[in-house]
Amino acid sequence: MQKKNEFKIIRVPVPSPTLYPHTNTNCYLIGNEHEAILVDAGYNQPETRIVLEKTISDHNLAVPKSIILTHAHPDHAPGVLQLQDWSPTVYCHPAEKETTLAAISPWNNLSFLNDGDTFKVGDGEIQIIHAPGHTSGHLNLYIPTEQILLAGDNIVAEGTSWIGPPDGDMIDYLNTLNRLMGLKIKKIGPGHGGWVLKPYQHIEFVLNRRLEREKQIKELLHEHEQLTSISLTKLIYDRYIHPSIFEVARRTTEAHLIKLIKEGSVSLQGTLYSIQG
Ligand SMILES: [Zn+2]
Repeated sequence: MQKKNEFKIIRVPVPSPTLYPHTNTNCYLIGNEHEAILVDAGYNQPETRIVLEKTISDHNLAVPKSIILTHAHPDHAPGVLQLQDWSPTVYCHPAEKETTLAAISPWNNLSFLNDGDTFKVGDGEIQIIHAPGHTSGHLNLYIPTEQILLAGDNIVAEGTSWIGPPDGDMIDYLNTLNRLMGLKIKKIGPGHGGWVLKPYQHIEFVLNRRLEREKQIKELLHEHEQLTSISLTKLIYDRYIHPSIFEVARRTTEAHLIKLIKEGSVSLQGTLYSIQG
């Protein structure tokens, strides 16, 4: 017998041309048969709607009347355009307004959520967290009763997220990860890949990876005196990196360099980075 009004959080991988090694973007359906919301809308292609509507009917959920976008990137936001028949209210963080409007154009009706807001759906309550890093207006969603965190692209199941200009900021990102460590979490729903069942271990892995990378960048700048972000990225990654993601790797390197410049340990002249002191 099916439980009545059961509150559900369903991960829905929808196909998207996203970054190697991932081939899907996760959307999440939250709610019950009377009321549901969608978190992230995937890529703007018909499969998005087909997969979502099948999942809604398989799990006996209401058609979502609200869509919360974690961020504006092309594999997360523009799928809204496939879902206009639902007449949804579309939410993002105010800092993500311009990039989201650009991503979902000609849709131009946005509502906003801020850090500390709560969002009620079905019998459940969702806490909204402003979690900048991957983008400046990135939203995370936390469901305290289930101890579940939906982390968008701040966490991916395999490897690490790319963090870089113009949208991303490494100082923000490390602060966000440290803040997320303070939540009571049983599992993390990432932007790409399966549920993360060892949340603290995974966040620590990402934090350590970023700190190790920073140390490596400083060592390479000591050794080579002056490097561009391209030559630095080649020295860091050449043997391991899939060619299709070299550019996001370079931008992640650049995000580290921007952090080190702000902290006064690296300087930039033209396109050449060097260590200070
Ligand atoms: Zn993204």
